[in-house]
Amino acid sequence: MREDVQDAISRVDQKRLWDRLMEMARIGAIPGNGVNRAAFSREDIAARKVLISWARARNFAVAMDAIGNLFIRRAGSDPRAAPVMTGSHMDSQPRGGRFDGIYGVLAGLEALEAIEEAGLATRHPIELVAWSNEEGGRFPPCTMGSAVYTGAKSLGELLEVKDNEGITLKDALAQTLAATPAAEKRELNAPAAAYIEAHIEQGPLLEQEGKIIGIVTGIQGLRWFNVEISGETAHAGTTSLGLRKDALRDAIAAINALHELTRDAADTVRFTIGRMLVTPNSPNSVPSHVLFSVDVRHPDPATIARLGDAVEPTVRKAVTRCSVKVTPTLHDDPCAFDPAVVDCVERAARALKLAHRRMPSGASHDAMYMARVCPTGMIFVPCERGISHNEAENARPADLAAGARVLTAALLELADR
Ligand SMILES: [Zn+2]
Repeated sequence: MREDVQDAISRVDQKRLWDRLMEMARIGAIPGNGVNRAAFSREDIAARKVLISWARARNFAVAMDAIGNLFIRRAGSDPRAAPVMTGSHMDSQPRGGRFDGIYGVLAGLEALEAIEEAGLATRHPIELVAWSNEEGGRFPPCTMGSAVYTGAKSLGELLEVKDNEGITLKDALAQTLAATPAAEKRELNAPAAAYIEAHIEQGPLLEQEGKIIGIVTGIQGLRWFNVEISGETAHAGTTSLGLRKDALRDAIAAINALHELTRDAADTVRFTIGRMLVTPNSPNSVPSHVLFSVDVRHPDPATIARLGDAVEPTVRKAVTRCSVKVTPTLHDDPCAFDPAVVDCVERAARALKLAHRRMPSGASHDAMYMARVCPTGMIFVPCERGISHNEAENARPADLAAGARVLTAALLELADR
């Protein structure tokens, strides 16, 4: 590794990174060490202001686009070169933790600080982005900022989305934009040379295997469905079993068949029925109607296509007495990251002698949309017992700093291409 690159990496400051994570965790802090920082809320605005103040202290350029994505740029030597980007999100789930999203933002800032302190010139600018509304907890859908930035969704189609209090995205966004008026305006769809996102794993693999760095190869595909089984309600005491159209009995048969469908010796398939509504939901009435959700995921395109396409026929075959309606509600194809970026991250982990492994991401991230417009990769660091979207989310300062060092090395390699 080049000496000046080594110098920059050595300036990644574990304590500065940890102290900043803890300072951000105070914005929207909730009992149990958690964080509630909804998109475009007072807390989100406060977090943005703190991030901007850290950027200004280094004279990095600060810009914002129409959906409130925040960009912090360290200039490159070639004025025509598109930025090499890194970042993640600052919003959280209502009962979120101290690391999901914000770690990727502050690891990116730490990389910029380290490179600045080392006085390294890069050909491409290096730009940190804090994506708006990744979680979608207040204004669905999730990964909104990156979807709008990359043109996958238009801002216009989202402005009338309301939160639980009836506030529109349009109003909350306008308030957020007005609260940081000094930022330059950034166009949507501006080109990027590459994107790397650092994130806690949100799963237990790295910790279980004693690895520090996950080299993320892509994001698994996902299919969602609502399944509705309609029968007929009747008196539980008087109606003989032979005459019933029991929607719950058929729903259970369908669910058992779906479990058979998704049985996987390799244990790679993810299959969840997380929601079920039974009508009339009374102990002495035969259920007339059952609605349940299906969430199935797999990193391999052929496998997720086969499983997703089989959901409706499997349910229909299992249901014997009631009628069936299956409605697809979400469909994300698996995303494979650019091999050159994946290799670049792996080279950095190896050069820093950090135990690492390649792995797909189980969760969706903003990197999924960036992968459509530029070479993209991700870096995972372990989190305690894989717990995430939970107040108890935890990670070790040394692992978080190791991820920031890998990020710094990878950004420097990409920014000099
Ligand atoms: Zn996240």
